Amino acid sequence: MPVTVRFAPSPTGLLHVGNARVALINWLFAKAHGGYFWLRYDDTDAERSKPEYVAAIAEDLHWLGLDWDRKAFQSKRLSAYAAAAERLKEAGRLYPCYETPEELEFKRKRQLARRLPPVYDRAALKLSNPERARLEAEGRQPHWRFRLDHADVRWDDLVRGECHVPAASVSDPVLIRGDGTFLYTLPSVVDDIDFGVTHVIRGEDHVTNSAPQIQLFQALGAPPPAFAHLPLLTDAGGQGLSTRLGSLSLQQMRGDGIEAMAMVSLLAHLGSSDAIEARASLVDLVAEFDITHFSRATPRFDPVELAHLNVRVLHAMPFAEAGPRLMAMGLIAVTEPFWLAVRGNLATLAEAMAWYRVCYAAITPEIEDIEFTRAAAALLPPEPWDETTWTGFTNAVKAATGRKGRALFHPLRLALTGRGDGPELKNLLPLIGKARAEKRLVGEAV
Ligand code: GLU
Repeated sequence: MPVTVRFAPSPTGLLHVGNARVALINWLFAKAHGGYFWLRYDDTDAERSKPEYVAAIAEDLHWLGLDWDRKAFQSKRLSAYAAAAERLKEAGRLYPCYETPEELEFKRKRQLARRLPPVYDRAALKLSNPERARLEAEGRQPHWRFRLDHADVRWDDLVRGECHVPAASVSDPVLIRGDGTFLYTLPSVVDDIDFGVTHVIRGEDHVTNSAPQIQLFQALGAPPPAFAHLPLLTDAGGQGLSTRLGSLSLQQMRGDGIEAMAMVSLLAHLGSSDAIEARASLVDLVAEFDITHFSRATPRFDPVELAHLNVRVLHAMPFAEAGPRLMAMGLIAVTEPFWLAVRGNLATLAEAMAWYRVCYAAITPEIEDIEFTRAAAALLPPEPWDETTWTGFTNAVKAATGRKGRALFHPLRLALTGRGDGPELKNLLPLIGKARAEKRLVGEAV
C-alpha cells in the first residue's frame, strides 16, 4: 500500500505556525516515501467553518510550496459516517445515552471527590428498553457512545515510541451528539480508512484520541494506520501558541516579509535532531527528512531565529527567483547586477524597494560638507562604469582632498544614497550612473 498521509485542518481560522508545521511534516513524509498527501477539511462544524478559511488555508499551503494529491471535505461525506455508525450499532459498539450535560458533570464531580478517575460509568448501557422508551418520551434525544473494548491498546508511535493505554481508563467516547451531528472522532477514522491513510501524523493534543480511534479502526474491520504525535510548539518564552494565534498566522508573517523557504526551513528542523539551517528548496528538505529525528522535547518557535533564516534565504536567492517578484512589486527596471548588489543587505524582499530608488529613481541626498562633495563631483570619471570605478574615484578624491577612511567614504555614501549604510558602493555606483551621482554630490534630489 503506498504511503498516504493527510493534513486535516478545521477551516475555522487561519493557519498558524503550529498547524503549518504539522502540514509540512506530513508533506515531507509523503514525498520522502514517494507517497500521497491529502488535504482534508474537517468542516463538520457548520457554524464555525467558513469558506474564506478554506480558501485562506489553500493559499497558505500554496505559499509554503505544499501541493496535495487529493482534497476532501468532511461535510460532503456525512452519509459515509452514518453508514459506519449503523455498522457500529449493529455490532453493539454504539449505544444511546440520555444524560444531560449537568448530570454528566455531577457524576464527574462525585468521582473526583472520591478520588476516582472521571471515566463515564456506562449507566446508559444498563438501561432497559422500557427505560429508554420513557426517556425518549420525555423528549430526550440520545447521544451515542462507542463502547470501548476494555483491553490494553498499544501502538509504536513514530515520535513517542511504545505507547500503551488501558482502555478502561478512558471514557467511552461520544461519537454522535444529541442533535445527530458527528464529533471529530468517527469521521476521521472513516476517512482514514476510505482514503487509505497509512500514517497519521498530528499534534500531541490528539494523543488521547488514538486509543479509541485504534479500536474504531478495528471495529470497522480495518487495520489501524501508524501514528506519530508531534509535541506542540511553544513561543520563545515556553508558552503555548494558542494565546497569540493572530500574530503567528502565516498570513501575517507573509505580510511581514517572511519568505516561505525561511518558514519551512525552520519548521522542518524545529524539534528534530537536525541543525536549523536555511535550505534553498523543498527538494533539499525532502532529501534529508526522517521522522525519527523528531523527539518528544517541546520545540520553541522563536521569531528571531526565523528572521535570521529569512536573511540567509534572501542572501542566497538567485535572480531568477527574485527578479520576477521584484518586477511584480513594480520594480520594472530591476537587473541581475542590482539584485546581486543589494540582496546581502535585506531583511525582507520589500526592502529592495529603497535600494531600487537609490539606483533608478529620485532620493534626497544627505550632504554633510558641500565643499567636499562638490569637489568629489568634479572628479567623477567618464562612463562606462563598472565595479572598479568606485576605487579609482575615491583614490582620486583622497589625493585631491587629503581625506581618508570614514571622513572620505561616509560623506560620499550619504550624498549618493541618502543613507549611512547599505550595500557596497562599488556595486551601487555603476547602477546609479554618472548623471545622478554628479547631481547628488552637489545636493540635488534626483
Ligand atoms: N481536525 C483535526 C485538527 O485540526 C485533525 C486531527 C487529526 O489529524 O486527526 O486538529
